[in-house]
Amino acid sequence: AETLLSARSLRKDYRLPRGQRLRAVDDVSLDVHAGEVLGVVGESGCGKSTLGRCLLRLTEASAGSLTFEGHDITGLSERALRPVRQRMQMVFQDSYASLNPRRRIGDLLAEPLRVHPDAHGRRRDMRAIEARLAELVDLVGLTPDALARYPHEFSGGQRQRINIARALALSPRLIVADEPVSALDVSIQAQIVNLFADLQARLGLTYVFIAHDLAVVRQISTRVAVMYLGAVVELGATDDVLHAPAHPYTSALIAAVPEPVVRADKLMPSLRGDVPSPVNPPPGCRFHTRCPVARPVCGQDAPTLRAVPDGRQVACHFPLAG
Ligand code: SF4
Ligand code: MG
Repeated sequence: AETLLSARSLRKDYRLPRGQRLRAVDDVSLDVHAGEVLGVVGESGCGKSTLGRCLLRLTEASAGSLTFEGHDITGLSERALRPVRQRMQMVFQDSYASLNPRRRIGDLLAEPLRVHPDAHGRRRDMRAIEARLAELVDLVGLTPDALARYPHEFSGGQRQRINIARALALSPRLIVADEPVSALDVSIQAQIVNLFADLQARLGLTYVFIAHDLAVVRQISTRVAVMYLGAVVELGATDDVLHAPAHPYTSALIAAVPEPVVRADKLMPSLRGDVPSPVNPPPGCRFHTRCPVARPVCGQDAPTLRAVPDGRQVACHFPLAG
């Protein structure tokens, strides 16, 4: 499949007081294939959201490069990035924060259509905009009367539908969704995940789908990247990764789910200790302070993400599978 988006050695550092540095994203390289759903999982604070924002250049990476549709977009100015921005959109966790409470839904959805020209480089007239608004509400399962209403008149799930409609307004190819169902009632989560899946199939979209819930990731993603302390430690087909995790951290993550979503082989005992601070990550393998199968070498040599025989990538000296 075509590589839609490609990241190489992406890094994001935040400067802290007293000269300290927090490395939120640490040397991440990955490809997003056209038409796939790449799930990104990991505990909170592992850098998933920062990575998602860096992939779309909503946050500037400190180092590394990004290619979208074969073009290097790493150093593009905001202006040069504008046509690219239409083709890559983000959906956030908090459905309310991303909607201006004082504007009607029709206005909120029309904004990108007014700002950006259509596929032929022309400004859209009122009729074109109204036609597109009708399509958008229909796509996300809302009724046309939604356009005249305000964000507070909707439930969390409906507001997330509105956010999805807005992300779709300019017919993007790629959507990065950052925990788009985490804030919703469990009963609503499945509906919204189904909507994402349905839209992907109908519109041929590509997603980077960030989640901490393995059941959600399993339901929607083709491949999955597991992050720990800013780095991708395992990346592969969702079935392989969840059924036979190769990285001890992945295994521990699966074992930690109270209601097992999958019957994985060789599950680790639950994790010891807390996630170390990303300000002072451990030397060697960043997981060695918590890894049940660590050996002395793990505290000295940092394993790099490399391909194992079954095709997935693992950053571990002693992978459990693959
Ligand atoms: Fe555990 Fe060592 Fe693998 Fe790190 S490299 S995950 S410490 S076995
Ligand atoms: Mg987050």
